[in-house]
Formats: sequence, structure tokens, C-alpha cells
Amino acid sequence: MAETENIRVWETHSPEETFSIGELLGREALAGQIYTLIGDLGVGKTVFTQGVAAGLGITGTVNSPTFTIMQVYEEGRLPFYHFDVYRIGDVEEMEEIGYEEYFYGEGVCLIEWADLIREILPPRHIRITIKKDLEKGFDYRKIEMSSA
Ligand code: ADP
Ligand code: MG
Repeated sequence: MAETENIRVWETHSPEETFSIGELLGREALAGQIYTLIGDLGVGKTVFTQGVAAGLGITGTVNSPTFTIMQVYEEGRLPFYHFDVYRIGDVEEMEEIGYEEYFYGEGVCLIEWADLIREILPPRHIRITIKKDLEKGFDYRKIEMSSA
């Protein structure tokens, strides 16, 4: 493991627990940070995101943007830019929405399915992976966070 790499691992057994971990990160999030969320469909990326939003002090409903790639929430401690790029066809769609303004801005970015836009991700981002392990139960999730 590289010396500069900082890894944190959590194990959760309910959506509420995953939400709480997101909330913790939302409370400590700094302006300009980019969180990438990697994991299969239904693993809990949006649950985690809802926790981050709550931690930032956002009280409104946060769901995965269905018809847009990105949703802005302004009512928290910092602007929150929630991307879900699951349906993206090409990174050009990111150019079209002017993603650089968000990636290099003063808010907090969180990108579900970030692996699909790997080529435009800034090198400095916080990578979060969520995995199931059915042997440990249906609601078990392993959440790993690493930042380079
Ligand atoms: P994704 O955004 O990764 O597609 P969602 O967050 O929308 O996934 O959905 C996750 C689903 O898994 C929800 O129905 C949630 O209730 C369920 N779930 C069960 N156990 C957990 C857990 N430990 N953490 C998060 N979600 C869980
Ligand atoms: Mg989702």
C-alpha cells in the first residue's frame, strides 16, 4: 500500500447504518472535495448519498437524478453537486452540463457510477466502494474509502 494512501473501512447491516456513515462524511466534507461512489445497482450508493446530504445540512429529499446527470442542492453548509452518471453515453454529456464548474468549484461533488467517467476525474478524489457479501447476510455492506 502506498504510504500516502489513506483507507477507511466500515461494515454495515442496514440502510440506516450506511446513511449514518454518509452523514459522518457529509459533516466533515470540505469545499472542493470530490467523492466517487462505485458499486453495483442496489448496493446502497443513493442511501449513502442521502446521508452525505443530511450531513451537509440538506433537509430536502435527495434521490438519484433520473432525467439529468446532476442535481444541485444549495441549502446546506456547502453547495452539493450530486451526479449519477449511470445512463451516460459519452463523457461529452458531462461537457454539455459544464461539469468543470462543479468539479473545480467550491462545493462538494459526489458521483455515483464514477468509473464510467474515469477519464475526466481529477486525480485527487475520494473513492468509496460499496460491496455486498451475501454470505454475511442480505443487508450486509462493506464500505471502503480511499484517497490518494
Ligand atoms: P444504488 O444507488 O447503489 O443503486 P440504493 O441506495 O438506491 O442503491 O438502494 C439500496 C437498497 O439496498 C435499498 O433498498 C436499501 O434499503 C437496501 N439496503 C439493505 N441493506 C443496506 C445497507 N446495509 N446499506 C445500504 N442499503 C441497504
Ligand atoms: Mg443510485
